[in-house]
This record gives sequence, structure tokens and C-alpha cells, in this order.
Amino acid sequence: MISVKGLIKSFGDLEVLKGISTKVDAGQVIAVIGPSGSGKSTFLRCLNKLEEPTGGIVEIAGFSITDKKADIRAARQEIGMVFQHFHLFPHLTVLGNLTYAPMKVKGESKAQAEEKARTLLKRVGLSEKEDSYPASLSGGQKQRVAIARALAMEPKLMLFDEPTSALDPEMVKEVLDVMKDLAKSGMTMIVVTHEMGFAREVADRVLFLDQGKLVEEGTPDEFFGSPKTHRARDFLEKVL
Ligand code: ADP
Ligand code: MG
Repeated sequence: MISVKGLIKSFGDLEVLKGISTKVDAGQVIAVIGPSGSGKSTFLRCLNKLEEPTGGIVEIAGFSITDKKADIRAARQEIGMVFQHFHLFPHLTVLGNLTYAPMKVKGESKAQAEEKARTLLKRVGLSEKEDSYPASLSGGQKQRVAIARALAMEPKLMLFDEPTSALDPEMVKEVLDVMKDLAKSGMTMIVVTHEMGFAREVADRVLFLDQGKLVEEGTPDEFFGSPKTHRARDFLEKVL
């Protein structure tokens, strides 16, 4: 589903990703963890070309997106993304948020898009909110809408960038539960997260980034149980 080879990203003189290589199979859940500023968001954003990679090769969902001729719009349709700060359309209702792109980008009829949207809202536990506007929702509800909205495009994989970091503590679980459910359904997921419990329980593999390098990669048992590098041990001592 994803193959990354020697991915480099620089901003001016600052090299933020220093040659990252990894592979993700369909259905896998990958947790990306590491200190603030280590390049986690940049890594994720290079996967759907929200950032233009400076070097290396990225293949994702059947697209060679670092190829100059790649159809980035088509590729992005296969890649759902969920951000820390939701990015919902404030002027649209919850239902409108879910139906907008499927109608506009995929040419679905209103009836078709709404039927799918209602199924998704049920799945994330927000059926009763379809006519509400984002401003009236709690952070946890907003994030569940954002997940449902991404799923409405029927992506092949989902990228999450610290989806629970902006939430009040009591709302973290409702969002993680939706994500666990999604993982169980077989969705391929890359999740940048500080939720070590989630990484441990749900991820098939952990990628540990530090200073733009993929320092360590392993199963949660390997990574949390016996981290191989002192950088990973240092990090875990601080967060656990
Ligand atoms: P993380 O998500 O792990 O906290 P980021 O990927 O956001 O890390 O950032 C990694 C480094 O890249 C940081 O030093 C950050 O300041 C820098 N950086 C990120 N985006 C930009 C940008 N658009 N321009 C310049 N520097 C950036
Ligand atoms: Mg980040």
C-alpha cells in the first residue's frame, strides 16, 4: 500500500527528513511516534504531497506520487487525512461536511452521498448531529465528524496527525474508540500519536522518528518492551 525509499525533505537549508525508508502493507496500522520537531507531520504530509518531497521515492495506493507525471488529485482521493485541528467546513452542517467532496469530486448524487453520510455518522455515533454546525460540537464530536468526512470519500488508507492532541482528556477515548473500530475493519492507517496506549494496543508496527531519521521500527512489544536505541529509551522514559 505504501513504499517509501530514501525520503528527504528540506525547508531551505534545514533538512527535516533525512532519508526515510519503510513499507506498509494493506490493512496494517502504523503508529508514528517521536519527540516534537522530529519530522512526524512532515513525513505524513509528504505521503500525500501536502509537502513536496525534496528527494526519494514515495509510492502510495497505487500511485508513484514522486513521479512528475503522477495524478496527485486522483491519488489524494484514495488517501484520507485527519488533522489535529479538525479543519471542518464551518459554514456547512455535519451532513454537508460529509457530502460535499463526494458530490463535488466524485460526482455522487445528493441522495447517494447523504445515504452514505448517514451510515458513517451512525458508525461514529453522531446520527443525531447531522443538522448541527461544527461550532456547536465538542472537540471529540468534531474529530469524529472529521473522520467520517474522510471516510465518505472511501479512501484506501487513512493518515492521522495527532488526532487527539487538541482534545480535552475526557474526549480522547471516544475518538480513539472510533479509530480502533476502523483499524478492526481492516483500514490501512498511519497514525502520528502521543497516545502510547493506543500505539501499544492497536498498532501492528511502531515507527520511532528522531531528528528526521527513522531511528527504530518494530512491533509494539519490541519497541515498548525492549527499545534498541538509547534515543528511544530516553523518549519512552519521558512519556511513559
Ligand atoms: P513533528 O510533527 O514531529 O513535531 P514537524 O514535521 O512538524 O515535526 O517539523 C519538523 C521540523 O521541520 C521542525 O524543525 C519544524 O520547525 C520544521 N518545519 C516544518 N514545517 C516547516 C515549514 N513549512 N517551513 C520550515 N520549517 C518547517
Ligand atoms: Mg506534528
